[in-house]
Amino acid sequence: MKYGKAGFLKKFFNSELLVSFVIRFFIFSIIFFVVWIFIGKYYLIIIAYVSKFILGFMGYDVTLFHNQEIYFICRGAQVGLTDAELANYNIVPFLALIFATPKMNKFIIGKSLLFGLPVIFIFHVANMVAHFPYYYNSSSFAQGIINSAGVINMGLPFLLWILFYRDYVSKIFKPKSYICPICGERKSGIAEHIESVHKNLSEKEKKALKIFFEMHPELKKENGRRE
Ligand SMILES: [Zn+2]
Repeated sequence: MKYGKAGFLKKFFNSELLVSFVIRFFIFSIIFFVVWIFIGKYYLIIIAYVSKFILGFMGYDVTLFHNQEIYFICRGAQVGLTDAELANYNIVPFLALIFATPKMNKFIIGKSLLFGLPVIFIFHVANMVAHFPYYYNSSSFAQGIINSAGVINMGLPFLLWILFYRDYVSKIFKPKSYICPICGERKSGIAEHIESVHKNLSEKEKKALKIFFEMHPELKKENGRRE
């Protein structure tokens, strides 16, 4: 078999879709990240106010300060939120994933934002709130939330994206398939299939094969045998 790396990947992904998606995702990530540098701080202040409200119910009397820095004062101690807006930046990949997905239906975009953003928001609040029972009461449940925050922050945007755009995601992870010109079956590794299954071809079949590869020049590149 004369398969290169690209040919190997083609068995697992639709590599053309994947590559163009990754490029768009990268570009949108940069755009949204630059925006986030300016608005992330305000988002953090909103999170802090909502957390303060919830902490009040939990019996933590906190005072929130935000001038140059954002921090809480609780029971005589300062709880800082330095650089926390960067920890909450997973809204950036979430938006980038949505905008990098092509042929989007406005209804699905709306639905994914209306559901996805609150889910991410709730998690950010839960993570901030958890720091208080963790520091002041050594709560192991709170510790669990804080410890898993890194993984959840990373995974949540992708999970939400898969949930709302599973049709597109499954297209990326489905290798491109072709109908075999000899036996008429749909195959994903078509060049490999022809090479291994259809030997001793008749003149008519050879001609059909030639026409097939002329119609799909992208297959010639991955199969060095046919020139
Ligand atoms: Zn066949």
